[in-house]
Amino acid sequence: MEPLYEGKAKRLYKTDDAEVLRMEYKDEATAFNAEKKAVFESKGKLNKAITLLLYKMLEDKGVKTHLHADLDEVNLLVKKVEILLVEVIVRNVAAGSFSKRVGVAEGTPFKTPIVEFSYKSDELGDPLINDDYAREMGLATEAECALLKKQALVVNEVLIDFFQKCGLRLIDFKIEFGRLSSGEIVLADEVSPDTCRLWDAETGKKLDKDRFRQDLGDVMEGYQEVLRRIEEVK
Ligand code: UDP
Repeated sequence: MEPLYEGKAKRLYKTDDAEVLRMEYKDEATAFNAEKKAVFESKGKLNKAITLLLYKMLEDKGVKTHLHADLDEVNLLVKKVEILLVEVIVRNVAAGSFSKRVGVAEGTPFKTPIVEFSYKSDELGDPLINDDYAREMGLATEAECALLKKQALVVNEVLIDFFQKCGLRLIDFKIEFGRLSSGEIVLADEVSPDTCRLWDAETGKKLDKDRFRQDLGDVMEGYQEVLRRIEEVK
């Protein structure tokens, strides 16, 4: 069957239910706006399992997501949404593009989390924007931007607390939101080591996609370790 949509890490397929799609997690990995590519055996399986567990946990804490049901090793059933073209990044500790942009050393903790918006456009390399850009570009209204920020901070609180119990530090993450046919905005896409920076709380060891970005080796061992710990604590 032809996918309805193919992204860098997932494929979306129609199901018998017009309101439900099948989301397949792929083993392909990309970094630096797809300049760097690789295939990691089991990545799809690991990211599906991690996203499922975190989505269930977030739902239990009152965060609405597009999760419909678990299907199999690499597939989730998700409610059909229209993805907002605003990516929301939350940062607790300086790293990645933040450190590069403003020269603050990686590992510098923030007193209060930073919320950032970027325009979801592969062509433009997901440029940094703010809520004025989003409003004028018709990506989200002012009220929607405020909601995205508020929801992202709730997600951050829930995840920080949970990962702490797993001996993991949540450095930063990117989330996406989608609009259900009812108009309601819910958390969509994935929450996994592809989209979160996670460091071992004791040793500071990186257990996320930076292992791939920075050629640190043992990429899937990091993802496996994240899954092992969250399954133990859930
Ligand atoms: N991120 C992501 N997709 C993107 C950009 C960023 O999942 O297209 C995640 C990334 O894994 C990190 C956080 O968002 O956990 C912040 O990323 P940053 O802006 O520092 O960009 P990067 O250094 O990854 O280019």
